[in-house]
Amino acid sequence: MKWPTHIASSLFITLPWINPLSLPFLVCGSVLPDAIETMLGLKHRNKITHGIELYLILLASGAFFYSPMLMMLSFTALHHLFIDAMTLHGVYVLGRNINGNLNTDSIIDNMAVFILHLFIALLLVK
Ligand SMILES: [Zn+2]
Repeated sequence: MKWPTHIASSLFITLPWINPLSLPFLVCGSVLPDAIETMLGLKHRNKITHGIELYLILLASGAFFYSPMLMMLSFTALHHLFIDAMTLHGVYVLGRNINGNLNTDSIIDNMAVFILHLFIALLLVK
């Protein structure tokens, strides 16, 4: 999916837990897998940046050290992978590719993900 879709979806899914301090970590985490790829010049959707293991370790570290900011960063990065798992290229779980039928470049598919997360947000804040 496109970065605005990832950022908005992460915003919607974490709406009850957002505060001014966590917001930058939310935004960074929601694009972290793609940002790491770009910064390091790695292949798009590789097994490291788009594998769940790295972010599960980060999430566990955040819980172990009781760091709400690290937990927000890793949770939204995992949410990025959850959305990417529904796309044609997919993501990796223990080295195996998990994918779906959504097209990253399709505006309709991006809107569908956006609207789905908007409904989830409405349920969460009720
Ligand atoms: Zn991605």
